[in-house]
Amino acid sequence: MSDNPAAAAAAAAAAAAAAAAPAPIHFGEYRQALTLDYIRQHYDPDARDILIDPQIIVVHWTATPTLESLYSIFDPDTLPAARAGISRGGKVNVSSQFTVDRDGTIYQLMPDNWMARHTIGLNRIAIGIENIGGPRWPLTEEQLSANEWLIRHLTRKYERIAYVIGHHEYLNFRDTALWQENDSTYFTLKQDPGDEYMARLRARLSDLELLARYAEGSP
Ligand SMILES: [Zn+2]
Repeated sequence: MSDNPAAAAAAAAAAAAAAAAPAPIHFGEYRQALTLDYIRQHYDPDARDILIDPQIIVVHWTATPTLESLYSIFDPDTLPAARAGISRGGKVNVSSQFTVDRDGTIYQLMPDNWMARHTIGLNRIAIGIENIGGPRWPLTEEQLSANEWLIRHLTRKYERIAYVIGHHEYLNFRDTALWQENDSTYFTLKQDPGDEYMARLRARLSDLELLARYAEGSP
């Protein structure tokens, strides 16, 4: 026991946070099979696995306030009925390879070279980073620093990564050689995480010379 109430409260909060930290999301055989179905429907009818070739990092915000709320969205294998706007795109649930909590803690939710359903047209070449936050919960300095660290890490691990984009910029890749989507009418309009956040992130990463728009021959 501590006789310092503030320290005791901080310790209790830390214990609660540790207890709430998620395991990787559930991504067993069934979800892997649904992911392969999605790849065959949208990208390649002859696909045999769910591996990706990372060339783009897509930065998102979750539009949810807490890690727990994101986890409850991503953990189920299948898309909930409420997602009518994208349900015709397939049964597998949405996810991302990484999420960054508001204190800057990075969580890997699934293998970073397995396909996650997070960005139409680019899923097979993109690693997604979901930041906990949104218009009502502006992304934090700690998240910005964590995004910078994670992107540096991923570009060292995957040498073909040549782009970092915000989800709101993904339609710039339509009609380029990198876009893969068999259904030209299947897309949604996105606002996350916005130009201001991407400008700040790109300023941090300028030495990596990552591209924001498609450039022929890159990678
Ligand atoms: Zn997004």
